[in-house]
Amino acid sequence: MSLAAGFKELNNLLPGQVKANEPMARHTTWRIGGPADIFVEPAGVAELARLVGWVHSRGFPLYFIGNGSNLLVRDGGIRGIVVKIGRAFGQVRVEGTTLIAGAGTKLGALAAIARKSGIGGLEFTAGIPGTVGGAVVMNAGANGTSMADLVQEVILMDATGELDRRPAQELGFGYRTSNLLGSSLVVLEVTCRGVARDPALIRADMDRYLARRRASQPLSYPSAGSVFKNPPGKTAGWLIEQAGCKGMRQGDAQVSLVHANFIVNLGKATARDVQILIHRVQQLVYERFGITLNLEVQVLGED
Ligand SMILES: Cc1cc2nc3c(=O)[nH]c(=O)nc-3n(C[C@H](O)[C@H](O)[C@H](O)COP(=O)(O)OP(=O)(O)OC[C@H]3O[C@@H](n4cnc5c(N)ncnc54)[C@H](O)[C@@H]3O)c2cc1C
Repeated sequence: MSLAAGFKELNNLLPGQVKANEPMARHTTWRIGGPADIFVEPAGVAELARLVGWVHSRGFPLYFIGNGSNLLVRDGGIRGIVVKIGRAFGQVRVEGTTLIAGAGTKLGALAAIARKSGIGGLEFTAGIPGTVGGAVVMNAGANGTSMADLVQEVILMDATGELDRRPAQELGFGYRTSNLLGSSLVVLEVTCRGVARDPALIRADMDRYLARRRASQPLSYPSAGSVFKNPPGKTAGWLIEQAGCKGMRQGDAQVSLVHANFIVNLGKATARDVQILIHRVQQLVYERFGITLNLEVQVLGED
């Protein structure tokens, strides 16, 4: 089946939720990325199950995204179907010191609910612009804490639309990774266990973390946060700075002058600009230190 015919069928299956040739630059915090052939924002779990079942029977490539805050989508765009787990998956329930959040909940919204409910443990998420689903898949973290310290279990949907409840011990959490990364599973709901804490203390910590980010990160330009993972015992930012890459520019992409592990989009940067900078940084850091920097950002799509 052609993608054009597929688009028609999907549009009938999920009216108002399907777009063709959707620029991914609209869905990444880098504001970079070519078009997805088909882009779907399902209105709920039932719609997602219908979509996943349909894709499974037709065999199109399928990709899930959250807030696109850790994504580099290449300029040629994405062949296949991109599904955004967004606002429709944003419900949160509070049970004692446990938070049960839909995967599309923004981390900032979840942290605010935790604070108001006197639930500590999520302070580190302040300022991470992802969804709960993306944060679990990436094991997002800061200040020595990560989602692995919080998550009790997740509800997943597999490629046939079946639901599965999986405890945290089976998610293969590591530094900025889990076994969900690159799998065909989509995260629907995440259970996080916090601890009872005075909301004023939670707020004080969050304010401190946010202030530190404002002082040390280039938040006035589009970016995807840290581009590279920290190698053991070193920070990527320090290595990049020492290798003389700070401020290096390709087109409108620039190794940030504020934080060398960020590449900022000064206006009209392309994915190609960013990729060229990534390779140059990797080369220069390797020449200087013999260390290969690995990407933290996930790369999707075609050149
Ligand atoms: C300014 C800035 C600061 C940042 N600071 C930090 C930080 O301190 N610490 C940190 O760890 N990260 C940080 N990040 C990176 C990013 O915010 C996190 O990795 C975040 O968890 C990604 O979530 P997302 O919803 O945007 O995921 P996306 O970028 O949309 O996706 C990331 C990956 O998760 C997958 N995915 C997303 N949602 C789902 C789902 N529901 N089911 C299955 N797969 C899914 C995607 O396929 C992709 O592989 C920062 C980014 C920016 C722009």
